Amino acid sequence: MKTDFDLIVIGSGAGGGVLAAELAHSDCDVLLLETGRHWPTESFKRWEAKASHDLFWPMRFAPLPGGDAVAFLSGRCVGGTTTVNTKVALRAHEQDVAKWHAATGLTNDDGAPFALADLDPYYRRVEDVLRVRERSDWDKCIHTVQAGFRALGAELEPVHSYTGPECEKYGSCLQGCPTGAGKSTMNTYIAQALPGGRLDLRTQATVRRILIDDAPGGMRAAGVEYVDAAGACHVVKARRVVVAAGALNTPQLLMRSGLRNAALGRHVGLHPARLVYGLFDEIQDSHRVYPISAHCMQFQRDEDGGFVLEASTVMDPIAFATTIRDEHGPLWGQRLVDAVRPYRRYGGVLAMVNDENNASVRLDAQGAERIEVNLNAREQQRIDAALRFSRDVLRAAGAREVYWTGLISTHTQGGCRMGDDPARSVVDRHGQCHGVRDLYVADASLIPCTVSVNPSLTVMALATRLAEHLLTEMAG
Ligand SMILES: Cc1cc2nc3c(=O)[nH]c(=O)nc-3n(C[C@H](O)[C@H](O)[C@H](O)COP(=O)(O)OP(=O)(O)OC[C@H]3O[C@@H](n4cnc5c(N)ncnc54)[C@H](O)[C@@H]3O)c2cc1C
Repeated sequence: MKTDFDLIVIGSGAGGGVLAAELAHSDCDVLLLETGRHWPTESFKRWEAKASHDLFWPMRFAPLPGGDAVAFLSGRCVGGTTTVNTKVALRAHEQDVAKWHAATGLTNDDGAPFALADLDPYYRRVEDVLRVRERSDWDKCIHTVQAGFRALGAELEPVHSYTGPECEKYGSCLQGCPTGAGKSTMNTYIAQALPGGRLDLRTQATVRRILIDDAPGGMRAAGVEYVDAAGACHVVKARRVVVAAGALNTPQLLMRSGLRNAALGRHVGLHPARLVYGLFDEIQDSHRVYPISAHCMQFQRDEDGGFVLEASTVMDPIAFATTIRDEHGPLWGQRLVDAVRPYRRYGGVLAMVNDENNASVRLDAQGAERIEVNLNAREQQRIDAALRFSRDVLRAAGAREVYWTGLISTHTQGGCRMGDDPARSVVDRHGQCHGVRDLYVADASLIPCTVSVNPSLTVMALATRLAEHLLTEMAG
């Protein structure tokens, strides 16, 4: 096997998949290392338990005061979390990106505070590749909850998503799209780059550490050490190494590789979310629709409430039954049986809250992962307000009972945030690690402050921007 490349990319999700393919298309020799397996579209079945095992990272938890916990979900397969996500494709709000300069001193190439407009060409490119389109093909369950929003003076609008017109609305986005209509970096960027022969994709290849040389002129990345499915260790070299292992993994990998930086693993944002369910008299079949075809953006800005609601969605049966709760806590026994039995009559909303990056990930003395979450009063108020409004919407729509889940983080961001100030950031404005040349970050961990919408489009836009920068650098 080849052991020398122009570029090694670690992780094939939103960030890594885009960056590796963009570089391979431009005649660079790229090695893409992915710890998960490659599951082709034909293998995707709506088998919830198997998909949770095959396609997802084992669920992680961070304790909250009072014995509760936040659950973290992310993908572990080729395509990363884009293979199992719900494909909502939204640009960040201006206000989100305006927070970045304040947080880390981030500027653009002209030295001006980094702004949403700086991402514009990269968003456009990603939207073109993924053929982002509007989803106004709403099903009954959306119209049911829409009545509740309207009764409270709010409105649902169609989302944009990276789902093709061939979407048959199986509702199985989280188990991998069985028709391929749901786009991921696997069935778009990576699939399109592989035939060119410049992209070497190695699966079940877990990077243990990045090799950093103490070269004349300072530290620089020289390659990586990874372990294959048989447990064999390999060393591969490259001119540049890009880490895109996801917001919880990238900081740990950098720590294990000896990187020291006060901001590393800190300022992690959860974009805390929960599902809220209403039990209606009529069948809704919210599990057999494109899960998120509408959203309410009225409260998106911090000063308007700081939350976004998406509709209409319920979890798949196992996740539904194991997470459903009310004000007394998780449901048990006969109450749980009674609540779960009319599964087809539920409609739901996903409430996602603006947070202030108050979580962290670190390694303990034994080298094990530790995730800590310290929500402040403002974050807690927004979380409570989002739950209250969601319950009110469902009641106003005619729900007899309302239940909800605990807090989940599916949009984890930060931990290696980018900025001009090395004291407050891990990488510079081009994603290169402060103090280590040729070592870059290209995933959600870059994002200095959590964006108020689903973040994958922003992660992909940032990766496209980094790809452009690397190409210019390598050419020059
Ligand atoms: C259920 C769910 C639904 C979502 N829905 C949406 C949505 O509708 N719209 C949206 O915009 N966002 C959505 N998201 C979030 C979005 O998918 C993520 O924000 C995005 O994929 C993050 O990109 P990333 O590159 O940082 O990480 P990922 O996409 O998670 O990719 C990281 C990759 O690195 C691999 N990796 C990790 N460690 C190693 C290692 N040591 N060696 C080799 N490989 C490694 C992982 O296996 C993974 O494949 C959703 C997330 C979830 C969980």
